[in-house]
Amino acid sequence: MAQPTPAADRPDASPVPVLVDGAFRPAAASDTDPVYEPATGREIARVPRCGREEIDAAVRAADRAFGAWRAVPVPERAQVLFRYKQHLEREHEALARCVARENGKLLDDARAEVRRGIEVVDFACGMPSLLMGETVEGIARGVDSHTVRVPVGPVAGICPFNFPAMIPLWMFPIAIAAGNTFVLKPSERTPLTGVRLAELLVEAGLPPGVLNVVHGGREAVDALLDHPLVRAVSFVGSEPVARHVYARAAASGKRVQAMAGAKNHLVVLPDADPELTVKAVMGSAFGAAGQRCLAGSVLVPVGDGARPILERVAREAAAVKVGDPFLEDSAMGPVIREEARARVARYVEKGLAEGARLLVDGRARAGTGGGFFVGPTILDGVRPEMAVAREEVFGPLLSVVHAASVEEAIDLVNRSRFGNAASIFTTSGRAAWLFRTRVEAGMVGINVGVAAPMAFFPFAGWKHSFFGDLHATGKDAVRFYTESRVVIERWA
Ligand code: NAD
Repeated sequence: MAQPTPAADRPDASPVPVLVDGAFRPAAASDTDPVYEPATGREIARVPRCGREEIDAAVRAADRAFGAWRAVPVPERAQVLFRYKQHLEREHEALARCVARENGKLLDDARAEVRRGIEVVDFACGMPSLLMGETVEGIARGVDSHTVRVPVGPVAGICPFNFPAMIPLWMFPIAIAAGNTFVLKPSERTPLTGVRLAELLVEAGLPPGVLNVVHGGREAVDALLDHPLVRAVSFVGSEPVARHVYARAAASGKRVQAMAGAKNHLVVLPDADPELTVKAVMGSAFGAAGQRCLAGSVLVPVGDGARPILERVAREAAAVKVGDPFLEDSAMGPVIREEARARVARYVEKGLAEGARLLVDGRARAGTGGGFFVGPTILDGVRPEMAVAREEVFGPLLSVVHAASVEEAIDLVNRSRFGNAASIFTTSGRAAWLFRTRVEAGMVGINVGVAAPMAFFPFAGWKHSFFGDLHATGKDAVRFYTESRVVIERWA
């Protein structure tokens, strides 16, 4: 069967293919949804809404491929990943362009995202060492015992729109290197990069059925969650959907890791380095238009001494050039859809109605063309009980909640039901120590605005930012994608 045109180069508004059993083909589903380019509002593709039959075909392909793939020696599986890494390096720029086009983040941010994704492939290439078990010789007279890690079977991966390259790459390279087969469902809002990632893995020599790609929204996800042959589910997305995925997949006996939403705080002490802090706060709150699960969305200046930093952040936020992600002088791109822009505006209105003050108003910042633009926006005088301080907005809206001491700031962070990330900016070792030992968040930044773990660490959200026990990436991911077997043997 002829290979389709690479996703990045596909002509406008063509349908996005599925990958089943090694063949890219048009989906059977006739229902489709538009994929927009957020910077222009133009439709660039149609994404199928795969129904249960199509999902079943993909899962069955993954199940059929499992026996042979798990029998491939792990160093040989790693060789496929090494070749994949070479293809990804070759296509780095094209992939970044595909991400910037369908997601709207700046091309430089897209390049960095693809790099973060490739780092997971680097990690997965080490699978021969990562799969090593433990051994105790002589647990009784003449009896030895050891553990081995074996793959679980077909795994489903369900992804959000905000990292169309990195998040699929958090999942399938590690799962596949560990001997599993995989069904990937990219976000229906950004499906093109996921398909291109799959094309490159097939090109690297992956046998048919080991990776499959399906599309759609709720119906496709539920079909994966209910399918008896799917053994494990990796999910990344919003909190309400994460809860749904966790409960529904667990109900049919699957293991689940569900990375969810966030409300991350950036605490600024009066002794913070102003240059470093302003740059880090700007990057954290407004980078990728605030559409990162590690984005800082509540700024907590401590005491009057931190006010000058807030004032500088406000001046810089008002001056951010919002525009086309492909232009070098743009400092922020659009949000993903018109609904996202409307959501930011709604939260601003709510905040104002509850007594907050607008420090910077980005609502009228239109950017170029007909895209989904909204500029950096800052609400001051926000109180912890207001909706805008508690709920995830997922856009370039920063709420400012003042605190009188570092202890009060920590209490404030800990009142959030989320626990993804939290950062402190200070030159005080004591304050930093207090923060990192008391704060209830799984990823802590000290003078770092986006506390993003490298691929060999877990992506460690807590509280309602994560449902499950083994996180994405690092050794957690290896454990998630494998069962542990204990062998006890007597030879004497
Ligand atoms: P989303 O929850 O809308 O969608 C995520 C996935 O779930 C998509 O594949 C979508 O098709 C599917 N989905 C949507 N509604 C569904 C439903 N009702 N039933 C079943 N499946 C459904 O998330 P999004 O808007 O694409 O992504 C942004 C969210 O992801 C934010 O909340 C962000 O914090 C979160 N996120 C979390 C992390 C993390 O590691 N914690 C990382 C990135 C993004």
